[in-house]
Amino acid sequence: MALRIARHGRGWQVRPSDILRVGPGFDLGGFDTSATPGFDGGKAAGEAAIATLGGRLSELQEKLYAESRAGGSRAVLLVLQGMDTSGKGGISRHVLGMVDPQGVQVRSFGVPTPEERRHHYLWRIRRALPRAGRIGVFDRSHYEDVLVVRVDGLVDGDPWLERYREIERFERQTEEAGITVVKCALMISPDEQLARLAERLERPEKFWKYNPSDIDARERWDDYMHAYQDVFDHTSTPSAPWHVIPADRKWYARLAVTQLLVDTLTDMNPSWPPPGFDVSAERARLGALLTERADADREPPASRRKGRRKGR
Ligand code: AMP
Ligand code: MG
Repeated sequence: MALRIARHGRGWQVRPSDILRVGPGFDLGGFDTSATPGFDGGKAAGEAAIATLGGRLSELQEKLYAESRAGGSRAVLLVLQGMDTSGKGGISRHVLGMVDPQGVQVRSFGVPTPEERRHHYLWRIRRALPRAGRIGVFDRSHYEDVLVVRVDGLVDGDPWLERYREIERFERQTEEAGITVVKCALMISPDEQLARLAERLERPEKFWKYNPSDIDARERWDDYMHAYQDVFDHTSTPSAPWHVIPADRKWYARLAVTQLLVDTLTDMNPSWPPPGFDVSAERARLGALLTERADADREPPASRRKGRRKGR
């Protein structure tokens, strides 16, 4: 098992995938965004756990990459959804920041460009899937096409059920191609969002993150929550379930996502590929070179000086 459950003392008391996964009857209405389910300990314990898990995550990704160099096709895709200021960007920086930058592919999805608009909504998503051996992160995703697009009425009619089925099919194909999909929704309370937006307007170094349209989205909070509930009800499948993560406490959201990634990769069990060469023959060659080098070092300085070319 991936996780050492701390039955006494601090740490996870329950596997986060068990406690955060959307099950039958999941109700966003009664969801406590400030809770820290399954983890016994506060911010300091949480941050210490993240640091420890970072090393593990990094090692597992390196193994997955090594596996891909030997022909493996597996990768991981972390799908992050959440309202503005819910901490999606912080996950990329703080969680994936612990992994070799060459092993991570982060992609954010904003308002579609004119080119993207000419294609099916999954077009830009397919093109951004992680390459073998990598951890891909989607900061927003194809789910925007059943969230903002629905709440803002950006398409005609009522295509949501059809889109959920299409998304389910797409995610199944993605899994069949070797990409394990980990879906996380970071949920904050309206009050927490208000505080975070206010902070963005207080500090010049945060202005760039503020977008006046964030307030518009905020005004449709209930519509968003309704759209999220439908997404959870219709697109949480056994192979690609949703994890709904309380995110008022940033440390908890980061810890939960880190642990989910570590558990996913541990279950994938990547292994160091066998060498594509004869290890003992190569060791013997290298051994010979080392001996030669040591012999040269033992030579008297005079004879070495004599051997030097003139003019150097
Ligand atoms: P941010 O994540 O703060 O950079 O904001 C990106 C914005 O793009 C958000 O307001 C999203 O709702 C919006 N967005 C993302 N995908 C779509 C989409 N498919 N259609 C319309 N708006 C989108
Ligand atoms: Mg924003």
